[in-house]
Amino acid sequence: MKLTVLGATGSIGVSTLDVVARHPDRFEVVALTGHSQVEVLAAQCRQFHPAYAVMGNATDAQRLALLLKESGLRTEVMHGAEALAQVASLAEVDAVMAAIVGAAGLSPTLAAARAGKRVLLANKEALVMAGAVFMAEVRRAGALLLPIDSEHNAVFQSMPHNYAGDMTRGGVRRILLTASGGPFRTTPLDVLSRVTPEQAVAHPNWSMGRKISVDSATMMNKGLEVIEAHWLFNAPADRIEVVIHPQSVIHSLVDYEDGSVLAQLGNPDMRTPIAHALAWPERIDSGVAALDLFAVGRLDFERPDLARFPCIDLAYRALRAEGNAAAVLNAANEVAVAAFLDRRLPFLGIAEIIAATLDAVPQAAVPDLAAVLEADRQGRAAAVAILAHRS
Ligand code: NAD
Ligand code: MG
Repeated sequence: MKLTVLGATGSIGVSTLDVVARHPDRFEVVALTGHSQVEVLAAQCRQFHPAYAVMGNATDAQRLALLLKESGLRTEVMHGAEALAQVASLAEVDAVMAAIVGAAGLSPTLAAARAGKRVLLANKEALVMAGAVFMAEVRRAGALLLPIDSEHNAVFQSMPHNYAGDMTRGGVRRILLTASGGPFRTTPLDVLSRVTPEQAVAHPNWSMGRKISVDSATMMNKGLEVIEAHWLFNAPADRIEVVIHPQSVIHSLVDYEDGSVLAQLGNPDMRTPIAHALAWPERIDSGVAALDLFAVGRLDFERPDLARFPCIDLAYRALRAEGNAAAVLNAANEVAVAAFLDRRLPFLGIAEIIAATLDAVPQAAVPDLAAVLEADRQGRAAAVAILAHRS
């Protein structure tokens, strides 16, 4: 299978290449992309010999080209958004790992869907922003969309065989998305008002990029995942529930009409869903250790506390509002998380900025990509203005 890895230098990208390296007979890397980490991408190119590599800008692309030439590699180096879409839709590529973080991943991920690829979707923001447009392109082009997000991968594995988007027909009552609760699961509200970026990115169970780590701390990550589940499985908002499960061993569950509940369990390591999606419908070694239930000992469950984690409710609100609301929610979240990481906004300000942005941007339909990008632009502009007004 020939692969493009978008966002190869990130947490998911590195885990993907770790799985790929275990199966040289099965996978061939055609293209790798990274935004600014020239040295990391150069090392990956030396290991995997891709035909193409893409950097964020011309200067970094030149530096990478020089490094690769010195190593005697013939990788063609490109840069910019057009190049990302190009390597996501190359005729010779079978599968595209979509692991760019945030709205920047939308266009190349959509390009992969339009080209009818096997799309391994980690970039949840793409689906949150553009769910209807994205799913329509997947159907039209006959692309195979496989979720990498551990919860959605678990749901995919637990849904009826050949599930075609009708929960009632499949006998499915509810989708139960598990959440670790993040680093502040038990932190009181008054303490949350002064937590730092360092505390927020220190996740108890998963090692991830900075943006998704903050999303886990606010639990907006779970909110985005509710919207992601809606689009992936055609599930209405009131049939998707969030369950706090601090051990992160059950990655999600599907509740059936007959009382059966099916779940996928495993150690919290993204190489499991990555290997699952890369090889589907086969199973391959991912490098993840076998689950030791005796070491795990017990599994706990709690209801989410919406007073301390209002972002979950904001995401449900955006999902129910339809139209541009989810794209606006995502844009405001990206602006607010960046401000928090820059120490320009306190932790609890993130949810406040998002709520105020949802109130400020008028409802609109999003029939196509242009409308989605306009909703993203409006959401960012409104969030930046609200942020400026605070300080
Ligand atoms: P990361 O920050 O570690 O990596 C992000 C990647 O995107 C890097 O390769 C970076 O170079 C690239 N990138 C960043 N900005 C870019 C831009 N403007 N243009 C092009 N490329 C850009 O993030 P991550 O943790 O690997 O997460 C990637 C995606 O996967 C996110 O959407 C995240 O929500 C999702 N995801 C991650 C995990 C996880 O465990 N890390 C789990 C589930 C879902
Ligand atoms: Mg997840």
